[in-house]
Amino acid sequence: MKLEFNSVNELLNVGEESKLGNSPVVTIMGMKRTTSNFLPVSHDGEGNETYVDKIEGLLSRKDGVRAEFIARKQEGIERRGQMNLLRNKVNELAKKNEYADNKKIKKFIKEDDFNKQWKALFGRECVIPHNLCISCPNCSLFGGWNPDINSTKSRRKNRSKSQKTFSRVRNFDTYSIQKDDNCIVNDESVAGMKIGNQVAEDNSAATSSNFHYYEAVKSGVYFPFIVMIERATLFDVASYLKAIRWADNHGYGKYSARNGKFQTEVWALANGHPKFSILDILEKAEELDNIEYENFKDILTFEGTALLKDNQEDMEIEIRTEEDKQNKNIKSIEDLEDKFEDEFKKYFEALIK
Ligand SMILES: [Zn+2]
Repeated sequence: MKLEFNSVNELLNVGEESKLGNSPVVTIMGMKRTTSNFLPVSHDGEGNETYVDKIEGLLSRKDGVRAEFIARKQEGIERRGQMNLLRNKVNELAKKNEYADNKKIKKFIKEDDFNKQWKALFGRECVIPHNLCISCPNCSLFGGWNPDINSTKSRRKNRSKSQKTFSRVRNFDTYSIQKDDNCIVNDESVAGMKIGNQVAEDNSAATSSNFHYYEAVKSGVYFPFIVMIERATLFDVASYLKAIRWADNHGYGKYSARNGKFQTEVWALANGHPKFSILDILEKAEELDNIEYENFKDILTFEGTALLKDNQEDMEIEIRTEEDKQNKNIKSIEDLEDKFEDEFKKYFEALIK
C-alpha cells in the first residue's frame, strides 16, 4: 500500500511559479468533540446577545437544530496553528550550532524583532491575515494575496514574483451530531443563556445591558470534519495534523481564550477525494448509541489508498520527484504526524541554502 505526496522542495516555490497546483488531493477526516463551551459565531450579534451559528431541518424537514461550524472558521484557526508551529521551528533551528555560519541565519539572528527575522528569511514579513509574505509554507498551503509584493526586494532566488497564491486547503462546513437541548445552551434550555462580561464595576448601577448574554454549544458535542489538501506534500499534511492539535487547545470560535476547546481523533488520511460527505456521517450517527470510529468505518471510503485509524500493516510513503529514498514506512496516523520534524529540517536547509 502506498500514500503519495509531493516533494517538500515544492514549498520553496509558491504563487504562480509553484507546481503545487490543483488535484490530486490528500484527504484528512475525523471527529472533533468539544471539551468546553464553544461559540461558533460568523455573524453580528444583536445588542448584548450572541447567538451561535445553527441550522434546522438539515437531514429532513423534521430534523432538529444543529450547531454549524463553518469551514472558514475551522481553517482560520488552523492557519494560525500552522504558522505558530513554523515560527517555533524556525526559531529552534536557527539557534542550532550547525547553522551558525550560514549567511541567512546570521542575518536572521541579528534582527531582534520577529517580523524582521521572518523578512530576512522570506523576503517579507508575514502577518495573518492582511500582510502575507506569499513565500512561506503557510502562505503556500493556505493561500494569500499581497498588493505590493513587487515593491520589495528579495535575495531569495526561488522567490515567486506573483502577488497571490490560492489556498490548497479545502475544509467543509460541518454540523453537530447532537441536536437541540443536547447541543446548544440557550434561553429556551433549562440552564438559560449564559451570562458574562459584566461591564459596570459598581453592581448597584448595573442594568441588564451591563451583561452579555450568549448561547453556547455544550461540551461533549461531536462534529465530524473533512479537510482536503490539494497537491499535498508530506510536510503540508504532517504540519496540518499538528496545527489541528494546536487549534484544539488554543480554542476555536468566539471568546476562544476560555471557550472552543476540542479533542480531535483523526480517523483517516487518504489519497484522493472522499466518497462520503459530512451528511453521510450525520445520517449514520442517527442510528448509533456511540460515536466511535468502529461504527463509521464501513463508510470511510476514498478514491485512493487510505491510512485508517486502526491500520495494522506498514504503508510506504512515496514522495514525488524526491531523490533520496529514506525509510518512509509508516504504520499509523501518529507516525505520519511525527514525520514533521524531518520534513521541516529538509525544507529549512533548502531555504537557507
Ligand atoms: Zn507567509
